[in-house]
Amino acid sequence: MSDCLFCKIVRGEIPSNKLYEDDAVYAFYDIDPQAPTHFLVIPKSHIASVAGITPENAAVVARIFTVISDLAKQLGLDSYRVVSNTGVQAGQSVPHLHFHVLSGRDMTWPPG
Ligand code: AMP
Ligand code: ZN
Repeated sequence: MSDCLFCKIVRGEIPSNKLYEDDAVYAFYDIDPQAPTHFLVIPKSHIASVAGITPENAAVVARIFTVISDLAKQLGLDSYRVVSNTGVQAGQSVPHLHFHVLSGRDMTWPPG
């Protein structure tokens, strides 16, 4: 049993504000939103980060992006940013692959 925070959320051991779930993908609102709409989409199976994506587990990433596209449409988002911080210097604080979806405000580029 992984004691990873997001694995615990997937198992329901830690509560979350769930948006979507299927057999492989889980989506929930970020607890500390950085935009008017801010949710996370993750694989149910533990992958540490983008650096842990391999030919063997990559299919779930396509599923995740399909879910992101569908949820954005359902929520009426016509402009949004998808971010996956990878490694501590890039700002990754939870070592379970996750894609932030941020929307509802002007975004700057490049990101800080
Ligand atoms: P990162 O810093 O890129 O690894 O993103 C991790 C994200 O997880 C941050 O935006 C946190 O606010 C969010 N987060 C941490 N704990 C929880 C939680 N229990 N429920 C929802 N989001 C969380
Ligand atoms: Zn995990």
